[in-house]
Amino acid sequence: MSLVSTNGETPTLERVNVMKPWLGEEEAQAIAEVVASGWVAQGPKTAAFEQAFAQHQQVEHAVATSSCTTALQLALLVAGVKPGDDVLVPSFSFIATANAPTYVGAHPIFVDVDEATGNVTAQTLDRGLTVATTAVIVVDQGGIPVDLAPIRQWCDLHGLKLIEDAACGAGSTYRGHPVGHGADVSAWSFHPRKLLTTGEGGMLTTNNQQWADRARTLREHAMGISAAERHSALVAPPESYAEIGYNFRMTDLQAAMGLVQLGKLDAMVARRRELVEIYRRAIDDIKGLELVADPDYGTSNFQSCWIKVLPEYGLDREELLEHLGHRGISARRGIMAAHLQPAYSGLKNIGLPVTESLTNNTLILPLFHQLGAAEQQRVIDALSNPGG
Ligand SMILES: *Cc1c(COP(=O)(O)O)cnc(C)c1O
Repeated sequence: MSLVSTNGETPTLERVNVMKPWLGEEEAQAIAEVVASGWVAQGPKTAAFEQAFAQHQQVEHAVATSSCTTALQLALLVAGVKPGDDVLVPSFSFIATANAPTYVGAHPIFVDVDEATGNVTAQTLDRGLTVATTAVIVVDQGGIPVDLAPIRQWCDLHGLKLIEDAACGAGSTYRGHPVGHGADVSAWSFHPRKLLTTGEGGMLTTNNQQWADRARTLREHAMGISAAERHSALVAPPESYAEIGYNFRMTDLQAAMGLVQLGKLDAMVARRRELVEIYRRAIDDIKGLELVADPDYGTSNFQSCWIKVLPEYGLDREELLEHLGHRGISARRGIMAAHLQPAYSGLKNIGLPVTESLTNNTLILPLFHQLGAAEQQRVIDALSNPGG
């Protein structure tokens, strides 16, 4: 157990963080090369990152963005979602999932999730369907793949566009393929809270060439000619703007880091799955705690490693959070429920019992690439001794 003396008298436990990105010299070197090149905005590195990401995720087109949130907004726009439309979304997700339809003037309609996966199903979506619904956003929550095939069928039956918020999903698989490739369009996050990080950043992926082209244009002010094309021409051709676009660009500094991180993704996933198995062996023996697991149709990257705290445990979720805090362990409350937030308070009185139970009774355990054996053992010891 590592001890750090803060004032020479009272040794305090070194803090165990809930997460930490896996970064090193390679990322620093890649960024330094971009700085030396003089081209730091969106350019050749971004194009290379897009190509590498598309290949890794087995999709035809990838369009880099400033974040997953902006990728989701573009996804809704290219999918043709209009002001006044209803978009079905899980409340059990980071709030950006619900905000994206709001940005394009559509209304998020919150639906419940499956108890085991924390993800929407064709059944929970069906209960939220309205006459104004034109699209759904499904999430691979915490990296757990959503069961896409039945949802795809249900969307086709009702003529709805299927958008996947795969913010947490890079490295997760669904029926043997990377998640995200079965939706009409998917959005990814490279925030440090996810596995692969570029500091901030995101990606839109799709197999639809027209949608990819439009997303590419919209992210760059809807400029008729890209900055890269403009700069490579000695005499720049005139610009034209066919519609109102956005500045949702990624920089080459970020993309250079993303390329290095993408090369490490498989190792990140393997390491996390190994650490989760160590947690699993211990937690299987603790009465009242249940650890999230792979569904039978896919594998998780375990972006979030959450446990359910049942009444038999003795402590409730808040008490367990405090108990861990006293032992220098920084856990987190489970995934939020957007419909319970003031931002969406007008929609509060809807029954989402599974969402409310999960958001109130789950806790996210420390899990990151460089989590040490002694640190993990401290977490396990604390979980095993709720009274001590
Ligand atoms: C993190 C996250 C987002 C937001 O990603 P940013 O890149 O920070 O915009 C959106 N949806 C889900 C499900 C997330 O976990």
